[in-house]
Amino acid sequence: MDRIYDVIIIGAGPAGLAAGSYAGRARLDTLIIEKEKDGGQIVITAEIENYPGGIEGETGPSLIERMSKQASGFGAGKVYDTIVDVELEGEVKKLIGKKGEYYAKTVIIASGAFPRPIGCSGEKELVGKGVSYCATCDGAFFEDMNIFVMGGGDAAVEEALYLTKFGRKVTIIHRRNELRAAKSIQEKAFANPKIEFMWDSVIVDLKGDGILESMVVQNTKTGEITEIQAPEEDGTFGVFVFIGFVPQADLFVGKVDMENGYILTDDDMKTNIPGVFAAGDVRKKSLRQVVTAAADGAIAAVQANRFIEGI
Ligand code: NAP
Repeated sequence: MDRIYDVIIIGAGPAGLAAGSYAGRARLDTLIIEKEKDGGQIVITAEIENYPGGIEGETGPSLIERMSKQASGFGAGKVYDTIVDVELEGEVKKLIGKKGEYYAKTVIIASGAFPRPIGCSGEKELVGKGVSYCATCDGAFFEDMNIFVMGGGDAAVEEALYLTKFGRKVTIIHRRNELRAAKSIQEKAFANPKIEFMWDSVIVDLKGDGILESMVVQNTKTGEITEIQAPEEDGTFGVFVFIGFVPQADLFVGKVDMENGYILTDDDMKTNIPGVFAAGDVRKKSLRQVVTAAADGAIAAVQANRFIEGI
């Protein structure tokens, strides 16, 4: 058997990086495994306004860069690999990646969540060709064009505000006639002359040959169908989807207790399996924010340390 880490953290978002900092600082032999790129959902966030003590103009990528440096500064190692299977029972946990196998006394699952797709026809084919889940990444492609944002939560309304920097007009399409977003965010949107609303509506079809050219919107109350075409001079328009998130926890189905796809933990981030913890958006909780993800990560790392000391 190869090296046995004290703790392996799955995911390098705010929860995983905070866990990495705390575990490294506790001098635990720590490895963070990330499948793609550090940061999780937060790297697709343009502005972070509410992280305590955050600096003005803080963006997702800037905060994550500092969190990553901090974790490695405390000695947490990192590899980029996709975990495809896990064996969590027993004193030594085994994680099987595409590139190798990893062993640890404790595991912190911080694999986060991914944006929920609309699930309508044409969506998959037109991702990156008019359809996007990331305003920071793709907003600039729609300079002086029409932009539509689907959703009514904090993410949709905040990102719609950000997209007014680029779009000629930004229309929020929401399935009800009342936003879910925090009142302070709503106020900014209602006061912005570039933002319009399509209430009681959902996108049911996205059409285009290689690029988004039109979409079909349905009224949720009357069933009425409206087809929206790209203005001829633009040839396309942007659709940004912010309708919540789906936990990335398929790997753990049948291995740890879950509810509606989220991992169940107690207040100490402990799952039902000894030595296995979960932190951040992947676990069942009431508030999914950077600050709560980071707090979960800290608690999980401290509890992993206690678990090891007790072995
Ligand atoms: P959210 O709060 O779950 O809102 C999702 C929105 O999408 C809701 O308006 C919902 O409509 C709509 N929706 C869900 N499924 C839909 C479907 N199938 N078709 C059409 N519409 C659908 O998600 P979020 O805005 O991504 O936020 C996630 C978490 O991050 C929240 O806790 C939020 O507070 C937090 N967040 C905070 C900030 C901030 O504080 N600055 C920024 C971004 C996110 P209904 O309203 O009808 O349910």
